[in-house]
Amino acid sequence: MTAPAILRIALDTPLRRLFDYLPPKIATHAAAIGTRVRVPFGRQRLVGVVHSHAERSDLPKEKLKSVIEVLDAEPVFDAQLFALIEFAASYYHQPMGVVLAAALPKLARTGAESRRILTRWFATAAGATVDLKRAPRQHAVFAAIAAAPDGLAADALDALGDWRTPLRALVARGYVSSAESVEEPPAPPADLILKRGPGLSPEQSVAVEAIDAAHERFAPFLLYGITGSGKTEVYLHAVERELRRGRRALVLVPEIGLTPQLVARFRERFTAPLAVLHSGLTDTERLAAWRTCVSGEARIVLGTRSAVFAPVVNLGIIIVDEEHDASFKQHESGFRYSARDLAMLRAQRAGVPIVLGSATPSLETLQNVATGRYTRLSLPRRAGQAVPPRAAVIDLREHAARQGISTPAVEAMQRHLADDGQVLVYINRRGYSPTLACTACGWIAPCRDCDARLTVHLGAQRLRCHHCGADAPLPEHCPQCGYAVRHVGQGTERVEETLAALFPGVSIARLDRDVVRKRGDLEEVVGRIASGAARILVGTQMVTKGHDFPSVTLVVVLNADQGLFSTDFRAPERVAQTIIQVAGRAGRGTKPGEVMIQTEYPDHPLLKSLLAAGYDGFAGTALAERQAANWPPFSYIVALRASAPTLPAAVEFLAHARKLARASRDVKLLGPAPAAMTKRAARYHAQVLLEAAERAPLHRFLAAWLPQIEEIKTSRDLRWSIDVDPIELF
Ligand SMILES: [Zn+2]
Ligand SMILES: [Zn+2]
Repeated sequence: MTAPAILRIALDTPLRRLFDYLPPKIATHAAAIGTRVRVPFGRQRLVGVVHSHAERSDLPKEKLKSVIEVLDAEPVFDAQLFALIEFAASYYHQPMGVVLAAALPKLARTGAESRRILTRWFATAAGATVDLKRAPRQHAVFAAIAAAPDGLAADALDALGDWRTPLRALVARGYVSSAESVEEPPAPPADLILKRGPGLSPEQSVAVEAIDAAHERFAPFLLYGITGSGKTEVYLHAVERELRRGRRALVLVPEIGLTPQLVARFRERFTAPLAVLHSGLTDTERLAAWRTCVSGEARIVLGTRSAVFAPVVNLGIIIVDEEHDASFKQHESGFRYSARDLAMLRAQRAGVPIVLGSATPSLETLQNVATGRYTRLSLPRRAGQAVPPRAAVIDLREHAARQGISTPAVEAMQRHLADDGQVLVYINRRGYSPTLACTACGWIAPCRDCDARLTVHLGAQRLRCHHCGADAPLPEHCPQCGYAVRHVGQGTERVEETLAALFPGVSIARLDRDVVRKRGDLEEVVGRIASGAARILVGTQMVTKGHDFPSVTLVVVLNADQGLFSTDFRAPERVAQTIIQVAGRAGRGTKPGEVMIQTEYPDHPLLKSLLAAGYDGFAGTALAERQAANWPPFSYIVALRASAPTLPAAVEFLAHARKLARASRDVKLLGPAPAAMTKRAARYHAQVLLEAAERAPLHRFLAAWLPQIEEIKTSRDLRWSIDVDPIELF
């Protein structure tokens, strides 16, 4: 193959284009598509990825610079993965380089080797002639190296204690030289399967066989399994079948679902090397895990959102656990993408089955089942003896409540505790109380920078904003009139206090973001519940993710009403998912469970359909509502958002952008309108919503419009972003 004349490089810059370079003057490796290169860019040096080769450039040759070096001997992105990244860039309307940067670990973005490099040290001829007896440590290190004709690597030298200092001296004196080579991954274990799994239920068997029968072709499945029905066992069996075929598995889980227990379940079943990728890794750990993907050593890649871009070769299956979870969508900053949706594309391109698992599937996924695009596999029963819990509503208009906990709920707790059960109390609010109010003048502690109230954190004696992080001392008197203040409403901290007063001597654990601050905290709380040391667990959504509390027999949902009347069309879906997921914690062992939902709106159609017909019943009602209102999945939407130090500045930018858009019959523009919470972190937010019945015209429209928006001269403090398929309309 002759060297290409021009290399088109994708660079992590905001510019939506590729950059032409000449091949390096001295090439160590061929600059194949998908390899990383280091290039001069202005006054900097950047690491980019070769996107394509070309015969000529639009720029005159003398204006082109040369690539400094080609960093990889082999592409780090194979053709399939590269095509996925290219698709993601066009679908989410991001520069290719930005998407490539998101797909690489940080150290790889700055040029770290994609393969582990092994250094070996050799004795030189000069070293063989000298007497080192007066430097005994150098002598010992040299003797060990000289005795190894193939050289010695660091792990062999470790036996000598501190060898680095004497070795440095030996190298400096020319007695020892070194050579570097790519470290080949260890040979895979003879059997990738450590032990066979337990026998499967008939429903689990049907699911495993269906997935297995689809091997080596694209086949999307929804594994719709109620909590405790053994979805993970289906994943493990499906992965085992692919490992036996010599293929690899990519398993995506929500950030908080990637628990040590889940990793342990894979490790106790498989000897196949496992790469774990999540946001808690250090940069070095992340690079090491990524390298085991590049080298092909890892047979199973288990990771959160960005693992959808892991360079897994010879992929055999993709699994997305808790596919409804919002954390699969990057929606806060930068490259906003849905890992679940990209996983679907990746499976399609790789021609492999993909399993979306959930007890509460997203309405998008259920609609794909309804139209026949996905195959539904159901696990309607719990594993073992467990029976689904009984659910009932407590009408808060009829029953008195003490600090938010109604009398029937307290009585039920007494009953379950007396019966040796554990109780889970769910409230979707951390802190002590959501409001601090004056008893005299009506003052309420506001966040200076947000359209929100400050939350009381009594233990820490702080007032905090849960939106911007503002933090202030907790006042004892009203700053306006000097009278006493009171705490209004409940958060987890206050519920814990109330329960401690109601059930003296009963050990209570709390699980929320204030308790879980560092690695290991979560395991500590979960451990106290699992061991039975704590009998009551008070928690936020955190209690629903990936933990198994077999002795919890009663679940009380304190505030089901939040979200029932939200302006966001997805809010009811999230409320229903949370209620079902929390309720699923009850009665997972042999004892039957009970669920009590406190509400002031027992006649709300959502709650009624959920209680009468479960999540399926709710989903039917909700999908009909979405269709009537023309919301996704019956339409496609994109949000153009802007924020600025003043609301007029944000709105003005959006109005200008809207004026630039050419009229389209297929795309409807709504707004600009202030966001539901307009002021956040001292910035004002507004948005324009685009809606279309078909994807293609919407994306054509965007592709024409975005370059025009980029031309708008804005002040430096205006920020804007584009969010394709937004999951929150805030
Ligand atoms: Zn006051
Ligand atoms: Zn705030």
